[in-house]
Amino acid sequence: MKKINLIYVLFFAIIFSCKENTKQTTVKEVTIADIDTTTVRKHLYTLASDEMEGRGTGTQGIEKAAQYIESKFKKFGLKTYDTLNNYRQTFTFTNRQTKKEITASNIIGVLEGKSKKDEYVVVSAHYDHLGIRNKEGQLDSIYNGADDDASGTTAVLALAEYFSKKKINERTILFIAFTGEEMGLIGSNHFGKGIDSTKFVAGINIEMIGKESNYGPKTAWLTGFNRSDFGTIIQKNLEGSGYVLHPDPFQKFNLFFRSDNASLARLGIPAHTFSTGPIDVDIHYHKASDEPETLNVSNITETIRAIAIGTESIIKGEDTPTRVVLTVEEMTGRRKKKK
Ligand SMILES: [Zn+2]
Repeated sequence: MKKINLIYVLFFAIIFSCKENTKQTTVKEVTIADIDTTTVRKHLYTLASDEMEGRGTGTQGIEKAAQYIESKFKKFGLKTYDTLNNYRQTFTFTNRQTKKEITASNIIGVLEGKSKKDEYVVVSAHYDHLGIRNKEGQLDSIYNGADDDASGTTAVLALAEYFSKKKINERTILFIAFTGEEMGLIGSNHFGKGIDSTKFVAGINIEMIGKESNYGPKTAWLTGFNRSDFGTIIQKNLEGSGYVLHPDPFQKFNLFFRSDNASLARLGIPAHTFSTGPIDVDIHYHKASDEPETLNVSNITETIRAIAIGTESIIKGEDTPTRVVLTVEEMTGRRKKKK
């Protein structure tokens, strides 16, 4: 009798432990709420910390930022790009002001598409900023570049984590942290030179999303809104989400050509920049005071979620934005001579 009882106990113990196991292996569904303020705060405060020394291109500080981004790409299981054997696209260029040779790296992670592997969507931000500048009478010499553009780089990392878990991308996504943007779109320009632009379906660039936009809470704006139908696709996908995308309110600043999207747009790729920056009144813009404490982490989180929802149909291969058409002057980046 005792033996039989023991067998029963063992039998139920095995069944129970099997049930427990299946419970543990059930994968939790990935939702937009997984992009949360805790994750956003962590990336933002790390990238904009004094330890990164303002992430000046070619410095030790930006090297720390590069390593942080690489460690996250590795953690999310991203692959390397094209013929590269790590996440770095390294190159040298001459600094126009100092005439010094600088070695710099774009950091590129690839999430391969399920069915449309040869159709690329770029999700990018620049991870460089102005570095350390000693100015007379100024106590703080570190230009942390929290809004510009640790906030955008945070978005690239959060979107890389989200889409790598969500696994809905029929198209291949290239997550890129560009270098040398502040020196004149150097990193994105270098990247653009080496690509077959016909394979690139869209460019999603993110700049300064740490402050509420001029249109109010839960809004962002897009540069070059009328240059392709990218913006109207995003607007359609955001319907009912409570978040609204507007055209760029600062036409006079020519912002479409002032961030890394321009290096891709010049090749005809519908590449635009998302931003919420109130740059007409922003007292911290390109100042040492662009610190993470001046930013609204909820604004960043909500904007990243909106970008994920807004671009989903492009990433899934359901929508293909029209190509950007530019004038010769716009394509070459040359300005018309003033008479
Ligand atoms: Zn910027």
